[in-house]
Amino acid sequence: MHTPVTITGAGLGGLTLARVLHVHGIPVTVYEAESSPSARTQGGMLDIHDYNGQLALKAAGLMDEFHAIVIEGRQTMRLVEQDGTVLHEMADDGTGGRPEVQRGELRRILLDSLPAGTVRWGRKVSGIRALGEGRHEVTFADGGTVVTSLLVGADGAWSRVRPLLSDAVPEYAGTSFVETCLFDADTRHTGTAMVVGGGSMIAPSPGKEIFAHRESGDTLHAYVALSRPQDWFAALDFTDADADAAVARIAQEFEVWAPELTALITDADIPPVLRPHYALPAGHRWDRAPGATLLGDAVHLAAPNGEGANLAMLDGAELGEALAAHPDDIEAALTEYEQAMFARSTEAVTFEGTEVHGIDSENSTARTMLKMINEQG
Ligand SMILES: Cc1cc2nc3c(=O)[nH]c(=O)nc-3n(C[C@H](O)[C@H](O)[C@H](O)COP(=O)(O)OP(=O)(O)OC[C@H]3O[C@@H](n4cnc5c(N)ncnc54)[C@H](O)[C@@H]3O)c2cc1C
Repeated sequence: MHTPVTITGAGLGGLTLARVLHVHGIPVTVYEAESSPSARTQGGMLDIHDYNGQLALKAAGLMDEFHAIVIEGRQTMRLVEQDGTVLHEMADDGTGGRPEVQRGELRRILLDSLPAGTVRWGRKVSGIRALGEGRHEVTFADGGTVVTSLLVGADGAWSRVRPLLSDAVPEYAGTSFVETCLFDADTRHTGTAMVVGGGSMIAPSPGKEIFAHRESGDTLHAYVALSRPQDWFAALDFTDADADAAVARIAQEFEVWAPELTALITDADIPPVLRPHYALPAGHRWDRAPGATLLGDAVHLAAPNGEGANLAMLDGAELGEALAAHPDDIEAALTEYEQAMFARSTEAVTFEGTEVHGIDSENSTARTMLKMINEQG
Protein backbone atom coordinates (compact mmCIF):
# COMPACT_ATOMS: atom_id res chain seq x y z
CA MET A 1 0.00 0.00 0.00
CA HIS A 2 1.67 3.16 -1.20
CA THR A 3 -0.77 5.70 0.24
CA PRO A 4 -2.20 5.62 3.75
CA VAL A 5 -5.48 3.77 4.10
CA THR A 6 -8.07 6.54 3.98
CA ILE A 7 -10.95 6.23 6.45
CA THR A 8 -13.88 8.64 6.47
CA GLY A 9 -15.39 8.96 9.96
CA ALA A 10 -13.85 8.77 13.44
CA GLY A 11 -16.70 6.86 15.09
CA LEU A 12 -16.03 3.63 16.98
CA GLY A 13 -15.80 1.60 13.76
CA GLY A 14 -13.37 3.86 11.92
CA LEU A 15 -11.17 4.33 14.98
CA THR A 16 -10.99 0.58 15.66
CA LEU A 17 -9.86 0.01 12.08
CA ALA A 18 -7.28 2.80 12.40
CA ARG A 19 -5.94 1.31 15.62
CA VAL A 20 -5.66 -2.26 14.25
CA LEU A 21 -3.88 -0.96 11.15
CA HIS A 22 -1.52 1.02 13.38
CA VAL A 23 -0.79 -2.10 15.47
CA HIS A 24 0.23 -3.83 12.22
CA GLY A 25 2.36 -0.89 11.07
CA ILE A 26 0.06 0.10 8.18
CA PRO A 27 -0.19 3.87 7.59
CA VAL A 28 -3.69 5.27 8.00
CA THR A 29 -5.43 8.64 8.01
CA VAL A 30 -8.94 9.25 9.33
CA TYR A 31 -10.93 12.24 8.04
CA GLU A 32 -13.66 13.35 10.45
CA ALA A 33 -16.32 16.00 9.81
CA GLU A 34 -16.54 17.15 13.43
CA SER A 35 -14.16 19.90 14.43
CA SER A 36 -12.68 18.18 17.50
CA PRO A 37 -13.08 15.10 19.73
CA SER A 38 -15.32 17.14 22.04
CA ALA A 39 -17.47 18.80 19.38
CA ARG A 40 -20.47 16.66 20.39
CA THR A 41 -21.38 14.73 23.53
CA GLN A 42 -21.00 11.05 22.84
CA GLY A 43 -24.24 9.64 24.27
CA GLY A 44 -24.81 7.16 27.05
CA MET A 45 -23.47 3.77 27.96
CA LEU A 46 -22.73 0.87 25.66
CA ASP A 47 -22.58 -2.77 26.66
CA ILE A 48 -19.55 -4.26 24.94
CA HIS A 49 -20.06 -7.92 24.16
CA ASP A 50 -17.58 -10.75 24.53
CA TYR A 51 -18.61 -12.12 21.11
CA ASN A 52 -18.01 -8.99 19.03
CA GLY A 53 -17.00 -5.64 20.61
CA GLN A 54 -14.51 -7.21 22.99
CA LEU A 55 -12.96 -9.31 20.20
CA ALA A 56 -12.32 -6.03 18.38
CA LEU A 57 -10.68 -4.49 21.43
CA LYS A 58 -8.46 -7.57 21.79
CA ALA A 59 -7.35 -7.19 18.16
CA ALA A 60 -6.67 -3.54 18.93
CA GLY A 61 -4.54 -4.49 21.96
CA LEU A 62 -6.69 -2.37 24.24
CA MET A 63 -8.19 -4.83 26.73
CA ASP A 64 -6.40 -3.31 29.75
CA GLU A 65 -7.63 0.13 28.78
CA PHE A 66 -11.12 -1.29 28.28
CA HIS A 67 -11.21 -2.98 31.71
CA ALA A 68 -10.12 0.31 33.27
CA ILE A 69 -13.23 2.10 31.98
CA VAL A 70 -15.83 -0.60 32.75
CA ILE A 71 -18.42 0.69 35.20
CA GLU A 72 -18.84 -2.08 37.77
CA GLY A 73 -22.31 -3.33 38.64
CA ARG A 74 -24.03 -1.85 35.61
CA GLN A 75 -24.93 -5.22 34.05
CA THR A 76 -27.81 -5.42 36.52
CA MET A 77 -31.00 -5.47 34.47
CA ARG A 78 -34.54 -5.04 35.59
CA LEU A 79 -37.90 -5.37 33.91
CA VAL A 80 -40.56 -3.06 35.28
CA GLU A 81 -44.32 -2.78 34.81
CA GLN A 82 -46.01 0.49 33.93
CA ASP A 83 -46.98 0.98 37.59
CA GLY A 84 -43.34 0.70 38.65
CA THR A 85 -43.53 -2.89 39.96
CA VAL A 86 -40.28 -4.79 39.35
CA LEU A 87 -41.15 -8.00 37.47
CA HIS A 88 -37.67 -9.49 37.01
CA GLU A 89 -34.16 -8.54 37.99
CA MET A 90 -30.92 -10.04 36.73
CA ALA A 91 -28.15 -9.08 39.14
CA ASP A 92 -24.62 -8.21 38.05
CA ASP A 93 -22.43 -10.86 39.69
CA GLY A 94 -19.35 -9.73 37.80
CA THR A 95 -19.31 -12.68 35.40
CA GLY A 96 -21.52 -11.28 32.62
CA GLY A 97 -20.20 -10.94 29.10
CA ARG A 98 -21.53 -7.42 28.47
CA PRO A 99 -19.72 -4.88 30.64
CA GLU A 100 -21.00 -1.33 30.34
CA VAL A 101 -18.79 1.63 29.49
CA GLN A 102 -19.42 5.26 28.64
CA ARG A 103 -19.32 5.67 24.86
CA GLY A 104 -17.17 8.79 25.20
CA GLU A 105 -14.59 6.91 27.28
CA LEU A 106 -14.42 4.10 24.74
CA ARG A 107 -13.85 6.57 21.95
CA ARG A 108 -11.18 8.28 24.06
CA ILE A 109 -9.12 5.11 24.58
CA LEU A 110 -9.19 4.48 20.84
CA LEU A 111 -8.17 8.06 20.06
CA ASP A 112 -5.39 7.99 22.69
CA SER A 113 -4.00 4.81 21.10
CA LEU A 114 -3.35 6.50 17.74
CA PRO A 115 -0.32 8.61 16.83
CA ALA A 116 -1.00 12.35 16.86
CA GLY A 117 -2.31 13.56 13.52
CA THR A 118 -3.90 10.25 12.52
CA VAL A 119 -7.35 11.85 12.80
CA ARG A 120 -7.84 15.01 10.74
CA TRP A 121 -10.67 16.89 12.45
CA GLY A 122 -12.98 19.28 10.62
CA ARG A 123 -12.55 17.46 7.28
CA LYS A 124 -16.06 16.77 6.05
CA VAL A 125 -16.20 14.63 2.93
CA SER A 126 -18.39 16.29 0.32
CA GLY A 127 -17.75 14.15 -2.75
CA ILE A 128 -15.84 11.17 -4.11
CA ARG A 129 -14.69 10.49 -7.66
CA ALA A 130 -13.53 7.10 -8.96
CA LEU A 131 -10.27 7.51 -10.91
CA GLY A 132 -10.04 3.90 -12.09
CA GLU A 133 -7.81 0.99 -11.02
CA GLY A 134 -9.16 1.21 -7.47
CA ARG A 135 -8.06 4.81 -6.89
CA HIS A 136 -10.44 7.47 -5.60
CA GLU A 137 -10.29 11.22 -5.16
CA VAL A 138 -11.96 12.44 -1.98
CA THR A 139 -13.13 16.07 -1.86
CA PHE A 140 -13.75 17.90 1.40
CA ALA A 141 -16.17 20.69 2.22
CA ASP A 142 -13.18 23.04 2.64
CA GLY A 143 -12.25 22.42 -1.01
CA GLY A 144 -9.23 20.18 -0.34
CA THR A 145 -8.77 16.77 -1.97
CA VAL A 146 -6.82 13.55 -1.36
CA VAL A 147 -6.27 10.60 -3.66
CA THR A 148 -6.15 7.12 -2.19
CA SER A 149 -5.85 3.54 -3.34
CA LEU A 150 -7.93 2.27 -0.41
CA LEU A 151 -10.98 4.18 0.78
CA VAL A 152 -13.03 2.94 3.74
CA GLY A 153 -16.39 4.57 4.46
CA ALA A 154 -16.85 4.52 8.23
CA ASP A 155 -19.00 7.63 8.09
CA GLY A 156 -22.17 6.21 9.53
CA ALA A 157 -25.82 6.21 8.52
CA TRP A 158 -25.55 8.91 5.84
CA SER A 159 -22.24 7.75 4.41
CA ARG A 160 -20.83 9.74 1.49
CA VAL A 161 -18.85 6.68 0.40
CA ARG A 162 -21.81 4.28 0.21
CA PRO A 163 -23.16 5.59 -3.16
CA LEU A 164 -19.92 4.38 -4.80
CA LEU A 165 -20.92 0.83 -3.93
CA SER A 166 -24.69 0.64 -3.56
CA ASP A 167 -27.95 2.48 -4.16
CA ALA A 168 -29.32 1.66 -0.70
CA VAL A 169 -30.71 4.57 1.33
CA PRO A 170 -31.77 4.43 5.02
CA GLU A 171 -35.49 4.55 5.69
CA TYR A 172 -37.39 5.51 8.81
CA ALA A 173 -37.84 2.34 10.90
CA GLY A 174 -41.14 3.38 12.52
CA THR A 175 -39.89 4.23 16.01
CA SER A 176 -38.12 7.21 17.57
CA PHE A 177 -36.42 7.74 20.90
CA VAL A 178 -36.71 10.84 23.02
CA GLU A 179 -33.44 10.92 24.95
CA THR A 180 -33.25 12.54 28.39
CA CYS A 181 -30.88 12.76 31.39
CA LEU A 182 -31.53 13.22 35.12
CA PHE A 183 -28.52 14.36 37.16
CA ASP A 184 -27.76 13.70 40.86
CA ALA A 185 -30.50 11.12 40.79
CA ASP A 186 -30.03 9.67 44.27
CA THR A 187 -30.61 13.05 45.88
CA ARG A 188 -32.74 14.98 43.36
CA HIS A 189 -34.81 12.21 41.72
CA THR A 190 -34.98 9.63 44.48
CA GLY A 191 -38.10 7.70 43.42
CA THR A 192 -36.92 7.41 39.85
CA ALA A 193 -33.43 6.37 40.96
CA MET A 194 -35.02 3.58 43.02
CA VAL A 195 -37.16 2.25 40.18
CA VAL A 196 -34.24 2.30 37.71
CA GLY A 197 -32.01 0.46 40.18
CA GLY A 198 -28.27 -0.09 39.86
CA GLY A 199 -27.98 -0.83 36.15
CA SER A 200 -30.51 -0.88 33.31
CA MET A 201 -34.28 -0.82 33.50
CA ILE A 202 -36.82 -1.45 30.81
CA ALA A 203 -40.56 -0.82 31.00
CA PRO A 204 -42.17 -2.09 27.78
CA SER A 205 -45.72 -1.73 26.50
CA PRO A 206 -47.40 -2.00 23.08
CA GLY A 207 -45.80 0.57 20.78
CA LYS A 208 -43.93 2.33 23.56
CA GLU A 209 -41.15 1.68 26.03
CA ILE A 210 -39.10 3.50 28.63
CA PHE A 211 -35.52 2.34 28.89
CA ALA A 212 -33.08 3.85 31.38
CA HIS A 213 -29.67 3.13 32.72
CA ARG A 214 -27.57 4.41 35.56
CA GLU A 215 -24.44 6.01 34.24
CA SER A 216 -21.33 7.04 36.11
CA GLY A 217 -21.65 10.13 38.25
CA ASP A 218 -25.18 9.39 39.57
CA THR A 219 -26.84 10.22 36.25
CA LEU A 220 -29.90 8.46 34.86
CA HIS A 221 -29.94 8.32 31.07
CA ALA A 222 -33.26 7.43 29.45
CA TYR A 223 -34.62 6.58 26.03
CA VAL A 224 -38.37 6.97 25.72
CA ALA A 225 -39.42 4.99 22.65
CA LEU A 226 -42.60 5.57 20.68
CA SER A 227 -43.68 3.78 17.51
CA ARG A 228 -45.13 6.74 15.63
CA PRO A 229 -44.70 8.12 12.11
CA GLN A 230 -42.19 10.89 11.57
CA ASP A 231 -45.00 13.35 10.86
CA TRP A 232 -46.27 12.87 14.38
CA PHE A 233 -42.89 13.84 15.84
CA ALA A 234 -42.48 16.69 13.35
CA ALA A 235 -45.33 18.50 15.09
CA LEU A 236 -43.26 18.62 18.31
CA ASP A 237 -40.53 21.18 18.87
CA PHE A 238 -37.77 19.98 21.15
CA THR A 239 -35.71 23.16 20.94
CA ASP A 240 -35.16 25.02 24.23
CA ALA A 241 -38.01 27.51 23.86
CA ASP A 242 -40.79 25.01 23.22
CA ALA A 243 -39.43 21.91 24.89
CA ASP A 244 -42.05 22.05 27.68
CA ALA A 245 -44.96 21.58 25.27
CA ALA A 246 -43.17 18.76 23.46
CA VAL A 247 -42.32 17.07 26.76
CA ALA A 248 -45.96 17.35 27.89
CA ARG A 249 -47.12 15.74 24.64
CA ILE A 250 -44.72 12.82 25.04
CA ALA A 251 -45.69 12.42 28.72
CA GLN A 252 -49.35 12.29 27.68
CA GLU A 253 -48.57 9.03 25.87
CA PHE A 254 -47.56 7.59 29.25
CA GLU A 255 -50.23 9.19 31.43
CA VAL A 256 -51.29 6.02 33.25
CA TRP A 257 -47.69 5.09 34.06
CA ALA A 258 -46.10 5.52 37.51
CA PRO A 259 -44.81 9.06 38.11
CA GLU A 260 -41.37 7.65 38.99
CA LEU A 261 -41.20 6.38 35.40
CA THR A 262 -42.71 9.38 33.64
CA ALA A 263 -40.31 11.60 35.61
CA LEU A 264 -37.68 10.28 33.20
CA ILE A 265 -39.48 12.46 30.64
CA THR A 266 -40.92 15.33 32.70
CA ASP A 267 -38.04 15.94 35.14
CA ALA A 268 -35.17 15.83 32.66
CA ASP A 269 -32.26 18.11 33.46
CA ILE A 270 -31.40 18.73 29.80
CA PRO A 271 -33.67 19.53 26.85
CA PRO A 272 -34.83 16.20 25.37
CA VAL A 273 -33.25 15.07 22.12
CA LEU A 274 -35.35 13.41 19.43
CA ARG A 275 -33.62 10.41 17.80
CA PRO A 276 -35.57 8.91 14.91
CA HIS A 277 -34.50 5.39 13.93
CA TYR A 278 -33.46 4.67 10.38
CA ALA A 279 -32.45 1.35 8.87
CA LEU A 280 -30.84 0.05 5.71
CA PRO A 281 -32.42 -2.99 4.05
CA ALA A 282 -31.60 -6.27 5.82
CA GLY A 283 -28.94 -8.16 3.88
CA HIS A 284 -27.54 -4.97 2.29
CA ARG A 285 -24.50 -5.89 0.17
CA TRP A 286 -22.78 -5.04 -3.12
CA ASP A 287 -20.51 -6.58 -5.72
CA ARG A 288 -16.83 -6.07 -5.01
CA ALA A 289 -15.65 -2.70 -6.26
CA PRO A 290 -11.88 -2.10 -6.46
CA GLY A 291 -10.29 0.08 -3.80
CA ALA A 292 -13.32 0.88 -1.62
CA THR A 293 -15.42 -0.65 1.11
CA LEU A 294 -17.64 0.30 4.05
CA LEU A 295 -18.00 -0.67 7.70
CA GLY A 296 -20.41 -0.19 10.58
CA ASP A 297 -23.64 1.79 10.20
CA ALA A 298 -22.69 2.72 6.65
CA VAL A 299 -23.37 -0.96 5.78
CA HIS A 300 -25.85 -2.35 8.29
CA LEU A 301 -27.61 0.54 9.96
CA ALA A 302 -30.45 -0.90 12.04
CA ALA A 303 -32.94 0.50 14.52
CA PRO A 304 -31.01 0.41 17.82
CA ASN A 305 -30.74 -3.22 18.90
CA GLY A 306 -27.72 -3.08 21.16
CA GLU A 307 -25.36 -4.44 18.49
CA GLY A 308 -24.53 -1.49 16.21
CA ALA A 309 -21.43 -0.13 17.94
CA ASN A 310 -20.21 -3.65 18.72
CA LEU A 311 -20.58 -4.69 15.08
CA ALA A 312 -18.92 -1.52 13.80
CA MET A 313 -15.90 -2.22 15.99
CA LEU A 314 -15.69 -5.85 14.90
CA ASP A 315 -15.95 -4.78 11.25
CA GLY A 316 -13.07 -2.37 11.81
CA ALA A 317 -10.92 -4.98 13.55
CA GLU A 318 -11.54 -7.70 10.96
CA LEU A 319 -10.89 -5.35 8.05
CA GLY A 320 -7.63 -4.25 9.68
CA GLU A 321 -6.56 -7.85 10.20
CA ALA A 322 -7.50 -8.85 6.65
CA LEU A 323 -5.39 -5.96 5.27
CA ALA A 324 -2.49 -7.00 7.49
CA ALA A 325 -2.80 -10.60 6.26
CA HIS A 326 -2.78 -9.55 2.57
CA PRO A 327 -0.45 -6.52 2.46
CA ASP A 328 0.14 -6.86 -1.29
CA ASP A 329 -3.37 -7.75 -2.33
CA ILE A 330 -6.00 -5.22 -1.28
CA GLU A 331 -8.74 -6.94 -3.27
CA ALA A 332 -8.12 -10.29 -1.55
CA ALA A 333 -8.32 -8.52 1.83
CA LEU A 334 -11.53 -6.69 0.95
CA THR A 335 -13.15 -9.87 -0.39
CA GLU A 336 -12.28 -11.81 2.77
CA TYR A 337 -13.54 -9.00 4.99
CA GLU A 338 -16.79 -8.40 3.10
CA GLN A 339 -17.79 -12.07 2.93
CA ALA A 340 -17.62 -12.46 6.70
CA MET A 341 -19.08 -9.02 7.40
CA PHE A 342 -22.10 -9.47 5.09
CA ALA A 343 -22.96 -12.81 6.69
CA ARG A 344 -22.56 -11.43 10.20
CA SER A 345 -24.61 -8.29 9.67
CA THR A 346 -27.50 -10.18 8.08
CA GLU A 347 -27.56 -12.52 11.06
CA ALA A 348 -27.54 -9.63 13.55
CA VAL A 349 -30.41 -7.80 11.86
CA THR A 350 -32.60 -10.90 11.77
CA PHE A 351 -31.96 -11.83 15.41
CA GLU A 352 -35.16 -13.47 16.62
CA GLY A 353 -37.15 -13.38 19.81
CA THR A 354 -36.44 -9.81 20.86
CA GLU A 355 -39.75 -8.20 20.23
CA VAL A 356 -42.13 -7.73 23.10
CA HIS A 357 -45.49 -6.05 22.61
CA GLY A 358 -44.48 -4.85 19.15
CA ILE A 359 -41.41 -2.85 20.11
CA ASP A 360 -37.77 -3.82 20.10
CA SER A 361 -35.57 -2.95 22.99
CA GLU A 362 -32.62 -0.66 22.30
CA ASN A 363 -30.27 -2.39 24.69
CA SER A 364 -28.96 -5.87 24.18
CA THR A 365 -29.00 -6.69 27.88
CA ALA A 366 -32.64 -5.74 27.82
CA ARG A 367 -33.09 -7.86 24.71
CA THR A 368 -31.66 -10.84 26.54
CA MET A 369 -34.11 -10.34 29.37
CA LEU A 370 -37.05 -9.80 27.01
CA LYS A 371 -36.10 -12.96 25.11
CA MET A 372 -36.02 -14.90 28.35
CA ILE A 373 -39.45 -13.60 29.30
CA ASN A 374 -40.84 -14.36 25.83
CA GLU A 375 -39.58 -17.92 26.20
CA GLN A 376 -41.28 -18.17 29.58
CA GLY A 377 -44.50 -16.98 27.91
C1 LIG B 1 -29.93 6.29 20.62
C2 LIG B 1 -29.00 5.19 20.20
C3 LIG B 1 -28.57 4.24 21.12
C4 LIG B 1 -27.70 3.22 20.73
N1 LIG B 1 -27.30 2.31 21.65
C5 LIG B 1 -26.45 1.33 21.28
C6 LIG B 1 -26.02 0.34 22.23
O1 LIG B 1 -26.44 0.33 23.41
N2 LIG B 1 -25.13 -0.60 21.82
C7 LIG B 1 -24.65 -0.64 20.54
O2 LIG B 1 -23.83 -1.52 20.22
N3 LIG B 1 -25.05 0.27 19.61
C8 LIG B 1 -25.93 1.24 19.94
N4 LIG B 1 -26.35 2.15 19.03
C9 LIG B 1 -25.84 2.05 17.64
C10 LIG B 1 -24.46 2.67 17.51
O3 LIG B 1 -24.48 3.99 18.01
C11 LIG B 1 -23.99 2.69 16.04
O4 LIG B 1 -24.29 1.46 15.44
C12 LIG B 1 -22.49 2.96 15.98
O5 LIG B 1 -22.19 4.23 16.50
C13 LIG B 1 -21.97 2.85 14.55
O6 LIG B 1 -20.62 3.18 14.53
P1 LIG B 1 -19.94 3.73 13.20
O7 LIG B 1 -18.50 3.94 13.55
O8 LIG B 1 -20.29 2.85 12.06
O9 LIG B 1 -20.67 5.11 12.90
P2 LIG B 1 -20.81 6.44 13.78
O10 LIG B 1 -20.66 6.17 15.22
O11 LIG B 1 -22.07 7.08 13.31
O12 LIG B 1 -19.56 7.32 13.32
C14 LIG B 1 -19.53 7.91 12.05
C15 LIG B 1 -18.56 9.09 12.08
O13 LIG B 1 -18.45 9.61 10.75
C16 LIG B 1 -18.49 11.02 10.80
N5 LIG B 1 -18.99 11.51 9.52
C17 LIG B 1 -20.27 11.46 9.05
N6 LIG B 1 -20.34 12.01 7.83
C18 LIG B 1 -19.09 12.40 7.51
C19 LIG B 1 -18.52 13.04 6.37
N7 LIG B 1 -19.27 13.39 5.32
N8 LIG B 1 -17.19 13.29 6.37
C20 LIG B 1 -16.41 12.92 7.43
N9 LIG B 1 -16.90 12.34 8.55
C21 LIG B 1 -18.22 12.07 8.58
C22 LIG B 1 -19.43 11.32 11.97
O14 LIG B 1 -19.24 12.62 12.46
C23 LIG B 1 -19.03 10.23 12.97
O15 LIG B 1 -17.98 10.64 13.81
C24 LIG B 1 -27.24 3.17 19.39
C25 LIG B 1 -27.65 4.12 18.46
C26 LIG B 1 -28.54 5.13 18.86
C27 LIG B 1 -29.01 6.15 17.84
